[in-house]
Amino acid sequence: MAKSPETEHPNKVFGWGARDKSGVLSPFHFSRRDNGENDVTVKILFCGVCHTDLHTIKNDWGYTYYPVVPGHEIVGIATKVGKNVTKFKEGDRVGVGVIAGSCQSCESCDQDLENYCPQMSFTYNAIASDGTKNYGGYSENIVVDQRFVLRFPENLPSDSGAPLLCAGITVYSPMKYYGMTEAGKHLGVAGLGGLGHVAVKIGKAFGLKVTVISSSSKKEEEAINHLGADSFLVTTDPQKMKAAIGTMDYIIDTISAVHALYPLLGLLKVNGKLIALGLPEKPLELPMFPLVLGRKMVGGSDVGGLKETQEMLDFCAKHNITADIELIKMDEINSAMERLAKSDVRYRFVIDVANSLSPP
Ligand code: NAP
Ligand code: ZN
Repeated sequence: MAKSPETEHPNKVFGWGARDKSGVLSPFHFSRRDNGENDVTVKILFCGVCHTDLHTIKNDWGYTYYPVVPGHEIVGIATKVGKNVTKFKEGDRVGVGVIAGSCQSCESCDQDLENYCPQMSFTYNAIASDGTKNYGGYSENIVVDQRFVLRFPENLPSDSGAPLLCAGITVYSPMKYYGMTEAGKHLGVAGLGGLGHVAVKIGKAFGLKVTVISSSSKKEEEAINHLGADSFLVTTDPQKMKAAIGTMDYIIDTISAVHALYPLLGLLKVNGKLIALGLPEKPLELPMFPLVLGRKMVGGSDVGGLKETQEMLDFCAKHNITADIELIKMDEINSAMERLAKSDVRYRFVIDVANSLSPP
């Protein structure tokens, strides 16, 4: 018989998890493996709240294995390192992102693209190589193979730096891969949430002209005056949308819900690229005419490999890029999720895990 989450491993851990598709999070006791030769045990300080956490607890994609402990934007302190661990020592400030394991020997892993390894395992809602389930960062600590642990640069704050571990790399990686970094080019960022607001900042650091494409005007003032966007376009404003047709070189689409691609593709110049990062629960319609007539392309991208994630952290540290956050206590998570579902967060919730997670 399968062992219970609480007894399958030797180390008891406390966190918050969801038990069913109501998505309600509540205290949850489980266990983690002993720190192995290649492992780092991380005492969690802060954990960001990604929309993927929300999709997962609500079973939007139909493959949530309850109970699930979300959280993949983790910053903490290494408290134990295995004897083969060379990259980290006890006391180091480290990060753990979306990926907690991969085969480490396939073509993708050899190219530092662990994110595309067929055996890649996510930090939560996934099965590890020992056959047990991974639980994420809404918890006291986590045990991770050193390959999947990041060095956290000194001048990045632990709380507002945490969202870079998913939101940051998810927007940085496609910008690099698809050649969307040429200074002076025009980037559209569709959806101004966790991913979108970091895309604005990274786009500006690359010297791009950045236009936010949003579903309402609510975030306009902040986007321009605070986040550094050059302009703001509301998709429901037909006149401004028309005036912007054919003006953008690239679009990063971070919208989490089903939406029309046609108006976004219209904003692109000939040869323009739209890179979709959002994961709505149903497929989108892909209109062929704007693609074919303008030699445009639509691509996708899944977080990033560990080497590139380190590069992104160092890039953000150099350019003083952090997320704009609302720091919450663990027991505020359910109302935070309700607000995230309504795009009502400026711009990422981060849980103050170390100061607010205590076993009942
Ligand atoms: P988020 O903070 O909720 O931001 C999503 C934004 O999309 C919202 O702020 C809103 O922007 C816009 N939006 C939401 N519902 C909409 C609707 N019905 N119509 C039009 N616009 C809408 O989410 P996030 O954490 O940035 O994540 C965004 C998506 O990326 C999620 O689907 C997530 O699962 C996915 N994701 C993918 C990867 C990857 O590797 N590809 C990694 C992380 C996350 P406005 O208020 O500006 O309209
Ligand atoms: Zn994420």
